[in-house]
Amino acid sequence: MVAIVIHGGAGRIDAADKAAYVAGLERARDAGFEVLAGGGTAVAAVLAAVTTMEDDEQAFNAGTGGSPNRDGVVQCDAAIMSSDGSSGAVAAVTRARNPILLADEVRLRSPHALIVGAGADALVAEPIGNAELLTPRTRAALARWREAQHERPEGSATVGAVALDEAGMLAAATSTGGLLGKWPGRVGDAPLVGAGTLATRRVGVSCTGDGEAFIRAVTAKGLADRFDAGMELSAATRLALDEVAAQGANGGLIVLTADGVIACGFNARDMAYAWRTGEGAEAVVASEPGVRLAGVATGVGS
Ligand code: ASP
Repeated sequence: MVAIVIHGGAGRIDAADKAAYVAGLERARDAGFEVLAGGGTAVAAVLAAVTTMEDDEQAFNAGTGGSPNRDGVVQCDAAIMSSDGSSGAVAAVTRARNPILLADEVRLRSPHALIVGAGADALVAEPIGNAELLTPRTRAALARWREAQHERPEGSATVGAVALDEAGMLAAATSTGGLLGKWPGRVGDAPLVGAGTLATRRVGVSCTGDGEAFIRAVTAKGLADRFDAGMELSAATRLALDEVAAQGANGGLIVLTADGVIACGFNARDMAYAWRTGEGAEAVVASEPGVRLAGVATGVGS
């Protein structure tokens, strides 16, 4: 049994952008699923899915098309974790085309769990100019944000993936430009194990939304602990979102268990997500907040 679930962020997704999001989700989900179907690892599958979304110029806030900070610089955060306990992450990296691959380098080749800023940029094998990560879409979004004199940075369209491979291993990965208009040096929940990204032996989680709230609620770890303690998956997912909502914040998350059960939940206006198992698949920009289950034994795609 193999399965993959991915997200392309929770927040406001304009109606005009929905088709690009759904097409991008399908491409990324299928890139990850092909890896699993060919006997590849969960780690390789989430890397395939997330790099596909990082490279997508028409949708998503990660890699190329990542949201710039208030100075117009794209500062990316990314993390990957395997259920073997290994993890790697980078934050405030500005010269990597695919921050998730850099996070995986940290996982595989460094003695550390998280490397930030100049130290992370120095690890990029083929550094690019930061302006290469800007797109007409993100330049326009920054101009609109500045014109409206927004003081609060705005989130949405972070990407993430969780996969289960034939050997029963789980992997989770999250990659983001972070909040549009964030302060330089600000780091969100995505690269923090236990907040925005987590893989244990029983569950993988990737989050999106107002990162500060996910950090303060230690969202992914809270969900995994409740699930371990015997709470039903949809209840654990709902409680995780309630803790974010209690801070006046919103977002969403995807979960995949080692038994092949998928949960997608959000309390933002919209959430882009997709999943595929051996039996079924879906890719949507959903606008009905709540928690949905899919995958094995749920009657949906099982
Ligand atoms: N969670 C991300 C962050 O706070 C943003 C997002 O998911 O939209 O950096």
